[in-house]
Amino acid sequence: MLITKASPVTALSGCGKKRAELLSTLGIETVGDLLRHFPRGYQDRGNVRSIDESEVGNTGAFVLTVSSAPTTVRISGGRTLTKCKAFDGDKSCTLVFFNRNYLNDILYTGCTYRFWGKLTKTKKGYELSPSVIEEIREEKALSDLVPLYPLTKGLTQNFMKAIILTALNSCLLREEDDCLPLRIRERLSVCGEGEAYACIHNPKNEAMIKKGRDRFIAEELFLFACSVNLAKQGRTYAKGKQFEYDKCKLYDFTDKLPFTLTKAQSKVISEIRRDMVSEYPMARLVSGDVGSGKTVCAMAAAYMAIKNGYQCAMMAPTEILAMQHYRDFSELFSKLGIECGFLTGSVTAANKRKTVEKLKSGELKLVVGTHALISQNVEFDNLGLVITDEQHRFGVAQRTSLQNKTAYPHVLVMSATPIPRTLALILLGDLDISVIDELPPGRQTVDTYVVGEAYRARLNAFIGKQVNAGRQVYIVCPSIEAKEETDEEISEEDILTFDLDVKKENMPKLKSAVEYEQNLRNNVFPSFNTAFVHGKMSGKEKDSVMKRFNDGEIDILVSTTVIEVGVNVPNATLMIIENAERFGLSQLHQLRGRVGRGAEKSYCILVSDSSGENARKRLEIMKTVSNGYKIAEQDLEIRGPGDFISPISGPSGSAKQHGAFGFKLAGFCSDSLMLEKVFKIAQETVINDPELKRQENVSIAAALSAGIGLGISGVN
Ligand code: ADP
Ligand code: MG
Repeated sequence: MLITKASPVTALSGCGKKRAELLSTLGIETVGDLLRHFPRGYQDRGNVRSIDESEVGNTGAFVLTVSSAPTTVRISGGRTLTKCKAFDGDKSCTLVFFNRNYLNDILYTGCTYRFWGKLTKTKKGYELSPSVIEEIREEKALSDLVPLYPLTKGLTQNFMKAIILTALNSCLLREEDDCLPLRIRERLSVCGEGEAYACIHNPKNEAMIKKGRDRFIAEELFLFACSVNLAKQGRTYAKGKQFEYDKCKLYDFTDKLPFTLTKAQSKVISEIRRDMVSEYPMARLVSGDVGSGKTVCAMAAAYMAIKNGYQCAMMAPTEILAMQHYRDFSELFSKLGIECGFLTGSVTAANKRKTVEKLKSGELKLVVGTHALISQNVEFDNLGLVITDEQHRFGVAQRTSLQNKTAYPHVLVMSATPIPRTLALILLGDLDISVIDELPPGRQTVDTYVVGEAYRARLNAFIGKQVNAGRQVYIVCPSIEAKEETDEEISEEDILTFDLDVKKENMPKLKSAVEYEQNLRNNVFPSFNTAFVHGKMSGKEKDSVMKRFNDGEIDILVSTTVIEVGVNVPNATLMIIENAERFGLSQLHQLRGRVGRGAEKSYCILVSDSSGENARKRLEIMKTVSNGYKIAEQDLEIRGPGDFISPISGPSGSAKQHGAFGFKLAGFCSDSLMLEKVFKIAQETVINDPELKRQENVSIAAALSAGIGLGISGVN
């Protein structure tokens, strides 16, 4: 039988119903899904160490000759312990196995094997407890780079490797199905789909991994670029909801504001107005550094929409932000006699129903919420404006989904992530861009310091001083709880990171929010009010903590990056960022922007014991530069475009998350030129064939409609 990417996994020999069901929990249904199940890293078993050279405590590959037959004894708990001797060079060690009674049939005296495990030293000598045993045979070379796949309970690495290799060997891949046609691959110097799968799943060396990876990075970026260009194309033909100029006047609105708009804000608002009174739908991004006052521009747009008789929906990426916007919006709009609704996952069913009804009937003109707003059962009477905040957290797909609730409403996107203009034009190419390039008057710069662990006592004294002066403090940690370990027998250090370019700098141990807060509360500041907040808490819990911090009931808030965007507590004057080396520059800048929002002098202290040169360099930039756009340019220069595309939602370490635009691999892109080339080709492709209907483009259209390349991002 012919096996193609569309065949079910059960078409492969070695995959029955049971396993197919397990694979399906990983989202793998077809042979094509299996081929796209990429390793999360590789074990470098080719890098064999001798017992002599290896440092005790290290995990790695050893090639050893067995010198005594395995003997097994029963130990406590019904377990068994098997031991035998083995050697390399002139050093020997004891191999130790638990519950592996069949070893007598596998390990023979005098034969040589490759083992993978951790070398330890006891009083009796060296010990190795291998998790992998491979027989060395002349006729069959062992592979040196062994892929490690994301697994689910019930599936093993060995099965996954075997079934993916079977898929690789039996699946017919046709050139006409490759979503990067040859003419495009040639221009980008990347390989075809089939070769790329072989490189990724069965690499002979690191160069092959890179080759395969580059192809999928290019593919992901290309499909994304096509969707961006298609969105823009679609809009130029669409009819928008044309607002009346006279109903866009803002006198009563500005009357109710507690401040005067800055020049930059007025300019941006008039750009928004110009879009909305035209016959085409607006799709505008308002970009501005933290604290530049984007929210009031959004409010002005909402007011114009409502005055014109339309509804307006404002969507934020997190409960915390949605709640904060809701407070700001309802405060101002109640003065204007306009009710503001609130809709998130944590709203009670009864309240939700009420809001949904009022949106459907048109009684409610304004609603703030999270992605609950794009759920199936929310309908609008006549939605005229959609505002999304911190757009990079929403994929193009989500953005489009809310827009589809009505024929082409105006769309306004707010982003506090300063990204270099060249990148913005590419990544946000479907949007027109307005920049608020001026801060409201009286803003101070936040003094920034970089310190190491040796400063801990002084740091704590400084925290105490701020709190005693009535101020509040943020402390950001990169992880939630101390133990967030990976699956199976493999720990982080064992694997060669998928990102081969970034050599792991000596990473200090991660601080975690929960333990940190416990220690503060019990040992350091028992008389202060402390609390933690992180992304695994429910929306309700998070909101209640944020509200208490907002109301001044909490002195010190320990958190993960959930507080990163948009949170506004002017009384907070000190931001401490632990493991600062783990964060991208733009992210550090975002975090720093949480303080310096009131009249009091504010400080940002970056704590890092990293000796890595790159980390040092980046932290130094934070100390001297306060303009977000300048920081972004430098970040681009040092780290390449990947960070802007991907991991803004997680601390950057070896394990990159689906972030920002929701890419799987493109976060590894370190090549700005490649990025620009990809986008240029995508633009040409869409201009020449606006509906991707030509024969030469059908594979691209198919990949897009299968959802490959449309980012949907997670929220931390
Ligand atoms: P961001 O651009 O980071 O979203 P916000 O919209 O949250 O910034 O505004 C930050 C703070 O500045 C808010 O407290 C807001 O009320 C205040 N603000 C906004 N515009 C002005 C202005 N023109 N003059 C004075 N304060 C302003
Ligand atoms: Mg904001």
